[in-house]
Amino acid sequence: MTTPPGNPEIEVRGLHKSFGTNEVLRGIDLEIGQGEVVCVIGPSGSGKSTLLRCVNLLEEPTEGRVFVGGTEVTDPDVDIDAVRRRIGMVFQQFNLFPHLTVTENLTLPQRRVLRRDKAAAEKVAAENLRRVGLSEKAAAYPASLSGGQQQRVAIARALAMNPEVMLFDEPTSALDPELVGDVLAVMRMLANEGMTMMVVTHEMTFAREVADRVVFMDGGVIIEDGTPDRVIANPAHERTRHFLSRLL
Ligand code: ADP
Ligand code: MG
Repeated sequence: MTTPPGNPEIEVRGLHKSFGTNEVLRGIDLEIGQGEVVCVIGPSGSGKSTLLRCVNLLEEPTEGRVFVGGTEVTDPDVDIDAVRRRIGMVFQQFNLFPHLTVTENLTLPQRRVLRRDKAAAEKVAAENLRRVGLSEKAAAYPASLSGGQQQRVAIARALAMNPEVMLFDEPTSALDPELVGDVLAVMRMLANEGMTMMVVTHEMTFAREVADRVVFMDGGVIIEDGTPDRVIANPAHERTRHFLSRLL
């Protein structure tokens, strides 16, 4: 399924999310076009992960509407499994299955969710391991890989499902500094290939070089939304300036 031309690939309208009395998202409006790369930045606790998780309904919004590829995710009658199949998600913790080889990590969801047969799933697994530069690790177990390699396997696993959209939640935050570059290089390749991406990150160089737009969140609202040049190099708001000054 593809989005009709002119329609955003991801659309968030009036999104609120509370946990008990804690209102974490306080009215988020956001549109992401097909092939657009949007980096979401902001202090810890500002609601970045919750926003990402509301897009694929890992969290249920308290109020508001979310559309992915023109389908309303928040429609109570939606087939949420069908929607989630179109959305790849990569977390800070790689969440690989430790008892399965790299190839098995990639084939299991394809077989379970997409009902691909073994040969087809293995072919797609091999293609995607090649894309992330890890063909030689196909038979390895996750524990024998570096954190950066494990995260690239997690990205390959998501890509093997042929998602329309990729969501990344601080994909490099758990990595040793020397391993960050390889993961960012894979994400840069995806961006260049035209993948629609929403990336929560503190990597300002990546945001500046790869993002079409940067969204700064604080206190559950979007404070700024614009080009990297605008938001990172010339922030309009004091809160953004303060946040950025603490990163540098
Ligand atoms: P960020 O990713 O920007 O650091 P989060 O979206 O993780 O922020 O969290 C925002 C706020 O929501 C925090 O105060 C956090 O404690 C709260 N929160 C997140 N998830 C839950 C949850 N499942 N239950 C209760 N509170 C949560
Ligand atoms: Mg978070």
